[in-house]
Amino acid sequence: MDAGACIIGRLCEESSVIMERNVFMRRAIALAQQSVADSGGGPFGAVVVHDGRIIGEGTNQVTGSHDPTAHAEVVAIRAACTQLGSFSLAGCEIFASCEPCPMCLSAIYWARIERIYYGNTKSDAAAIGFDDDHIYREIALPISERAIPTEQLLADEAMAAFRAWEDSDDKIEY
Ligand SMILES: [Zn+2]
Repeated sequence: MDAGACIIGRLCEESSVIMERNVFMRRAIALAQQSVADSGGGPFGAVVVHDGRIIGEGTNQVTGSHDPTAHAEVVAIRAACTQLGSFSLAGCEIFASCEPCPMCLSAIYWARIERIYYGNTKSDAAAIGFDDDHIYREIALPISERAIPTEQLLADEAMAAFRAWEDSDDKIEY
């Protein structure tokens, strides 16, 4: 193969990867629009992709399912984990119609998803009433300065479960 063909081949490969990403992001955006149109849910959608295939989809179901944790990304992560039969989404990517909130970002880390693509920014979300900036600020504060009073109780007794975990021979580490 001559050098010119190599460059053209590489460019084609790069553009097909970009096109594939756009397909997944368009699906996340379509889910966001569907959420609003079908159920009056929040305008958020997400898909989890593994080996070039969608393995989990989610829309915001907070109001419909009375579940404040049912953000699109969390719903998609749960669906993907069920599909794979695993708590780990290592090797997966997530496409979210909006930049993930702190809860979803944490879930993405716990799931070991390896790349995040997002459409709208958190500023865009704040502009239509979904402001999660205060949560980002809370996380950075010492416990004593957070808006929700938080205090430690029965530390010694709570430690028993940790000791049991350490001593257990059949625990599934994650
Ligand atoms: Zn979220």
